[in-house]
Amino acid sequence: MLHGYTPPERYLPYLSWTQIAQLPDPANTVIVLPAGATEQHGPHLPCSVDTAICAGVIGHALARLPKHVPAYAMAPITYGKSEEHLHFPGTMTLTGATLLSTVIELGDSVYRSGFKKLLIVNGHGGQPQVMEMAARELRLRYGDFVVIPTSVWKMPSGTAAFTSEKEKKLSMHAGHGETALMLALAPETVHMELAVANFPPEFPSKLLSSDGRPACAWTTRDFGPTGVIGDPCGATPQQGQIILESLSSHWAQAIEEVHQLNWVQRPEATWGRGHQTGHIQNSPLP
Ligand SMILES: [Zn+2]
Repeated sequence: MLHGYTPPERYLPYLSWTQIAQLPDPANTVIVLPAGATEQHGPHLPCSVDTAICAGVIGHALARLPKHVPAYAMAPITYGKSEEHLHFPGTMTLTGATLLSTVIELGDSVYRSGFKKLLIVNGHGGQPQVMEMAARELRLRYGDFVVIPTSVWKMPSGTAAFTSEKEKKLSMHAGHGETALMLALAPETVHMELAVANFPPEFPSKLLSSDGRPACAWTTRDFGPTGVIGDPCGATPQQGQIILESLSSHWAQAIEEVHQLNWVQRPEATWGRGHQTGHIQNSPLP
């Protein structure tokens, strides 16, 4: 049905409201929100890449988790802020404001359900700032809500072992790593015979960009007509398996750490915010 790569017993929407109300330790149960996108990824990859990768890696991580660690995946956000790709058909984008509201309102719902630990695992390079802004807003609303905005590629992936120096330096989209991982997660959607390499020029100011990556705002079309920014041509399913193993095992560890996390005691809520927004602090609604 809807759980995709997530083991069904770790998929939060499969629980009834009474099962959720009776969970033994909601405050230390980790709720993971995969935040993907639907946007062009060159001629060789489907538009679903970022959603498939964040939901796929988290699903595999949850499958590795010891039974006693309480953690659930939410249904992924499948549309994101993909405006840099809007010149290509198939890109379905929200504005940053809509995505920000979506993540905040989902966070409100997670907290209202009684949970206190939310891990947002973003799969799209064009929207980490939105996740960080949403997390800060949720922190302001709820004094005891732990919200961690992060990226699915933040964990060691092993991708560097397979890629050229140029790929390491300049690849940003639909390159070797994403292609290999998709060959492991959804090979039926990958068309390697259509894979092409395409790189942006190095940014010409060392002061503004010491690593050569674009220091100014760009859209994908600035770099050519294919939508690829990198070199996917050498990617293989075997490499994808290695990347998937590495990411999912590290994510399993990270989720367990979030379960155990007890960091700082915080004041209950920022003064005045609870009154302004009408939220009830620290008491989930029945
Ligand atoms: Zn992508």
